[in-house]
Amino acid sequence: MNDIYQDMAARLSQLEEEGNLRRLTPLRHEGRCVYTEKGGRKPMLNLSSNDYLGLAARTDWWREFVEGIPAEVLLPTSSSSRLLTGNFPVYTELEGELATQLGCEATLVLGCGYHANAGILPAVADKSTLILADKLVHASLIDGIRLSQAHCIRYRHNDLGQAERLLVKYHGMYSRIIIVTESIFSMDGDEADLPALVALKKRYPNVMLYVDEAHAFGVRGDNGMGCAEEQGCVQDIDFLVGTFGKAAASAGAFVACKRVAREYLVNHMRPFIFTTALPPVNVAWTLHVVQRLPGLKDERRQLHAIASRLRQGISLAGMQSVGSSHIVPLVVGESAKAIRMAECLQSAGFYALPVRPPTIPQGTSRIRFSLTAALKAEEVDALASELRRLHKSHFG
Ligand SMILES: *Cc1c(COP(=O)(O)O)cnc(C)c1O
Repeated sequence: MNDIYQDMAARLSQLEEEGNLRRLTPLRHEGRCVYTEKGGRKPMLNLSSNDYLGLAARTDWWREFVEGIPAEVLLPTSSSSRLLTGNFPVYTELEGELATQLGCEATLVLGCGYHANAGILPAVADKSTLILADKLVHASLIDGIRLSQAHCIRYRHNDLGQAERLLVKYHGMYSRIIIVTESIFSMDGDEADLPALVALKKRYPNVMLYVDEAHAFGVRGDNGMGCAEEQGCVQDIDFLVGTFGKAAASAGAFVACKRVAREYLVNHMRPFIFTTALPPVNVAWTLHVVQRLPGLKDERRQLHAIASRLRQGISLAGMQSVGSSHIVPLVVGESAKAIRMAECLQSAGFYALPVRPPTIPQGTSRIRFSLTAALKAEEVDALASELRRLHKSHFG
């Protein structure tokens, strides 16, 4: 082995010692359950999926979709970038449907949320731009910031007082300021105050607002379009990003923005221009789901209800969860403890995963319960009593 590979191996051993080594676990899926090699034939309730509405587990939807669709739309490849020959009609149809449901000027469908976040900021931010980003924004947004020419200041998580002081101080020194946040935060499961952010941005003409709704799309709002829809501020957000890989049970992403901004992105956004367009079959499936999102009010209510139930159960078990959404993190501290706890839960039939540094800060390792509307109240209660038992025994 040469030095480079020895160095890689040494770094991996170090990660393993710290309890932060990641591995790809082979999984078999069956509806709401998963099976691992280690777990043998025992089904584990999947509490780590982003299938928030339980749609990925509903084979009846998929069957209905496949049966009703002409073969040319079932095409598994677009064979080109959208700017060349990959722009199938179903793309435009999906963009129109999203714009109508959101009540915005335009939308642009993109390959995935990572592309959206890594590509929009570099396209719209230059050297005279300041980005003010929440301390906890997703890695894909951090990469977008790094790829851009802009200066960036991170404000403390959800500390809009600090964001305001930064705006007051800097708005005259940059041609443009972009405030960047998520609506529901992936790791803490808490929410940004969108109306307050909108009020902040409206104080200066050169301030834009960028909101990543990856965890809220499908889950919030009357039509299921997210927190901005729920709070009536879609049109005040300059770049609203939603993804299809989570609640929408598909793949891909979109940005909702002004028509001129869409055209600008088509001309400047590298992860839009230099990539093969999503397969038409995939976009058609997304359209199929998006058309039905407004009708999934019961699923959204159920998701909300079981999340409250789990939070309550955790607090009755003598532990503390953070946040307020369907993502329920249970912070336990050290990585080793989070790993042990996840293993115990898995042997009890709950497939929950530990989240560790560098995804989150040192010393805040957690079990992250990512709930779906397909869960039943009894299952959540069983989970809560298992947590109570664990807390009383070796985790107390
Ligand atoms: C999942 C996620 C993304 C990435 O979306 P993909 O479509 O999976 O690439 C972006 N932002 C946030 C906050 C996410 O949770």
